[in-house]
Amino acid sequence: MPIAAEIRERIAPPTHKASVYDNVVRQFNRAAELMGLADNIRKILGSPMNEITVHFPARMDDGRLEMFTGYRVQHNNTLGPFKGGLRFHPAVDLDEVKALATWMTWKSAITDIPFGGAKGGIELDPAKYSHTELERITRRFTWALGQNIGPEYDIPAPDVNTNAQIMAWILDTYLSSVSPQERGRCMHVVTGKPVGLGGSLGREKATGQGLVYCIEEWAAGRKFDLSKATYTVQGFGNVGSWAGRLLDQHGSRLLAAEDVTGAIVNPEGIDSEELTKYVRENGGVFGFPKASAIDHEAFLSTKADIFIPAALENQVTGKTAAMLDVKLVAEGANGPTDPYGDILLRKAGVDVLPDILANAGGVVVSYFEWLQNKRSEYWDLDEVDCKLHKKIVAAFKRVQSTAREYDVDWRTAAYIVALARLERVYRERGIFP
Ligand code: NAD
Repeated sequence: MPIAAEIRERIAPPTHKASVYDNVVRQFNRAAELMGLADNIRKILGSPMNEITVHFPARMDDGRLEMFTGYRVQHNNTLGPFKGGLRFHPAVDLDEVKALATWMTWKSAITDIPFGGAKGGIELDPAKYSHTELERITRRFTWALGQNIGPEYDIPAPDVNTNAQIMAWILDTYLSSVSPQERGRCMHVVTGKPVGLGGSLGREKATGQGLVYCIEEWAAGRKFDLSKATYTVQGFGNVGSWAGRLLDQHGSRLLAAEDVTGAIVNPEGIDSEELTKYVRENGGVFGFPKASAIDHEAFLSTKADIFIPAALENQVTGKTAAMLDVKLVAEGANGPTDPYGDILLRKAGVDVLPDILANAGGVVVSYFEWLQNKRSEYWDLDEVDCKLHKKIVAAFKRVQSTAREYDVDWRTAAYIVALARLERVYRERGIFP
């Protein structure tokens, strides 16, 4: 059953477009109230530690200089070095980066890894720049960040529109800024590097893999047969396409996919591997020959068992949640569901695997990459997958038991797990002076 219209009417729709950081604050406050988080710790965790904005020039292929604005927000480093991705997108701004940095703190805490939370990005549309321009922009941004990043201090990774190549340029630029004697000890200044350059096997698929491990646990709990499952994916980039390819290995069927180029559907099923190849060659899902084009509303309304948002924030809202006709929303993206969307999904009995648990596989394997670099080791794929599985299942069970204990939804439970861990550490360390 689609979410009933009368439920939609009972919830006051947002009067203005909430900022993404507002969403984080609401989620945080809800959990902090419920668990009775100590006031002092609530104050500290309620805002990021550092917000860095840099304006820097980069030379274009035609010789002109263009100015760019980049950000790095460091939310918290109580559990370990700041850690989080870099995004290249026209919508990147301080509000969004603050939200993304805060979610990173919670993710590391939930999965029990010794990292804090950070995020960064450049406000630009990468499609408008050549390969060589992107290289110069990336290098100049790295230079502008200077000692605000570092292998034991703040470690970037890929996010939307950034990849292993971008990480390689950041690594090379950063290494040029330290003495030759130090360079061998700084390979872990970024994660998500190319495998030949100190990257970890399994990092590229890690976020999708972690998401599918969560879906497996959810299915086991619900006695739901994944080999008969149908699903839809919004955003067919790194996270979405890997989630699709891994779910297909269970025998699940992708019915519809959407990305920045448009949306497609095929009730008989779409082969995720074939679609990934098509997207790589054509830049998007639009025009995939074995499916028909549909519009955004038809995509969201496609009846399926699982919806995987794996694009941007605020996609499942007070307006769009009512269109979904699914049993589970498994959040590959960060912040795809706003607080109004959350309420509607809860009322309609749709399960939600929240981003800070469901997409934490990326940061977990980033931690493994960081460890391998520090120890000059290379782990094989089985070892990485096995360790990731253990971490994700343990995190899942922590969230599951907390949801039962407090009788709350999974997002709130995930927050409680994270906040309780941070609260414990603050109590043990004390707060200076
Ligand atoms: P990506 O750049 O590889 O893919 C992004 C996808 O989203 C593309 O298919 C793009 O076309 C699509 N998209 C962009 N705008 C859209 C729109 N308005 N409507 C529909 N589709 C749109 O990025 P990614 O690394 O796969 O990241 C996707 C999401 O997952 C982001 O929210 C990111 O923060 C989150 N995430 C990524 C990682 C990681 O390891 N890469 C880890 C955790 C969370």
